[in-house]
Amino acid sequence: MDCIFCKIVAGEIPSKIVFEDDKVIAFNDISPAAPVHILIIPKKHINSALTLSDDDYDVISSIFKTAVRLAKEFNIAEDGFRIVNNCGKNGGQTVEHLHFHLIGGRCLTWPPG
Ligand code: 5GP
Ligand code: ZN
Repeated sequence: MDCIFCKIVAGEIPSKIVFEDDKVIAFNDISPAAPVHILIIPKKHINSALTLSDDDYDVISSIFKTAVRLAKEFNIAEDGFRIVNNCGKNGGQTVEHLHFHLIGGRCLTWPPG
């Protein structure tokens, strides 16, 4: 499968990995939107939130646990941060491997564009 994030999981594309366990990997976004911009993804290929199967919901827990752990580690927990999942064309999803953005280190505006 020609998936950039599967290639990052396999180590075929270099990335700055900041956390990894058996289910999840987290790495710096190549084009950061804020001082801290980390992508947290399941190692297993899942296209998007829309294609999650019942067995996949465990990995979502792991992703949120990882996000909170990294928010503390990268010192954005106290000031606040955002966890974002873009889904589909109108949601702004550009990589079809489920991923959550952990963004922080500056004041983020709302609503998004
Ligand atoms: P989306 O728009 O799908 O929610 O987010 C995809 C994110 O992946 C973007 O923020 C983009 O900068 C990031 N990205 C795309 N290709 C690569 C890559 O090869 N390496 C890394 N580290 N990030 C990538
Ligand atoms: Zn993939």
